[in-house]
Amino acid sequence: MSADVERLAALQRRSHEERVDDHAQRLREVITIASEASEGWRTRLVAAGVKVDEPGPIDVSKLPVLRKADLLERQAARPPLGGFTTKPLHEFARVFMSPGPIFDPLDFADEWGFGEGLHVAGFAGGDVVLNAFSYHLTPAGHAFEQGASRLGATVIPAGTASTEQIATVIRALRPTAFIGTPSHLRILTDRTGWRFSRAAVSGEKMSETDRAVLEHSGGSIRQIYGTADVGYVAAECEFADGLHVSEFLDVEIVDPEGDVEVPDGEIGELVVTNFATGYPMLRFGTGDLSRVASRDTCRCGRTGPRLEGILGRSGPGTKVRGMFVYPHLVTDALNRSNLSAGQLVITRENGEDVLVLRADVPADDEKRIETIRRVFRDVIKLSMTVESVATVSPTDPVLLDERVF
Ligand SMILES: [Zn+2]
Repeated sequence: MSADVERLAALQRRSHEERVDDHAQRLREVITIASEASEGWRTRLVAAGVKVDEPGPIDVSKLPVLRKADLLERQAARPPLGGFTTKPLHEFARVFMSPGPIFDPLDFADEWGFGEGLHVAGFAGGDVVLNAFSYHLTPAGHAFEQGASRLGATVIPAGTASTEQIATVIRALRPTAFIGTPSHLRILTDRTGWRFSRAAVSGEKMSETDRAVLEHSGGSIRQIYGTADVGYVAAECEFADGLHVSEFLDVEIVDPEGDVEVPDGEIGELVVTNFATGYPMLRFGTGDLSRVASRDTCRCGRTGPRLEGILGRSGPGTKVRGMFVYPHLVTDALNRSNLSAGQLVITRENGEDVLVLRADVPADDEKRIETIRRVFRDVIKLSMTVESVATVSPTDPVLLDERVF
């Protein structure tokens, strides 16, 4: 293990108190820089009454969550980056464009980035990695490549090459590892019979069944989560028992309706505060739903918090029979009902709102259906019927409003 990787491994195994102290100090540094050099952050910090010059830890919980739509609006109103950087554009190494469009600068700073996540996922020097994320404008391809290089791995930048081209590469070079989406990996293993050793997958929701199928055809499958705006956030280790949060940022699970942190175990929006000094993100709302899976030490020895994978997307609520129903509440109720997929459909019949949950449940399993109805009544405070369908997928929206007024 290189000295570099050893330092990272030590950070991952430090005590809770050491981590809290370190993060408080990093937060103070980044907020000091942001309030001095970034007009966008200074305005938000002052408006929220966050005091930078008082002793003791800085409380950022008063700062409103910055959501993607706000960032998009700010960047459009004040190009190029909404006033959220602490230095001019030409001092960054790269600038990407994500759908929106949202522009994401990448700093020269010597950060671990996705290298940390790939390390957690078991990648190391000696791996020959097929990187199948796009290198064009969006950051994933480059960000993962930089991380793999940091670990000393060899990278094949496959990007958006055709399946035919990638199959040729696999037959000729026999890469040991894969980076990309789980569905892409499935296509490649079906096509070529490739026996990889490990894969880091991202960008799609993956069920445990999908994981089992992929592991059967190859090696270990580990999920990595990150976003274009804040970079690497969390990854699974060899025990795949939740995603280890990066040592270089703080996460909160926040009530999507109110910006307030929810208790551990509850579903909410994943909000990230990173300590990047060039393009800081303070309470950035990812729009993705997750929950804290555990704060106990993992069997791998890492001591930081772990998140459950991404459970869905947060979104605007819709009023049904006078009550607001939100996608995150439906996701929560589906999880509590042990349903990997389901869709709550709202229609209007004879002037009344009607709620039907479409889910893959045997129509004659009355006991199960009654339990699901009770869970939904507890969570969304409304009653509904259950329609047995086998065609609901985890990628379908969990809330569908089909009412015509
Ligand atoms: Zn672990």
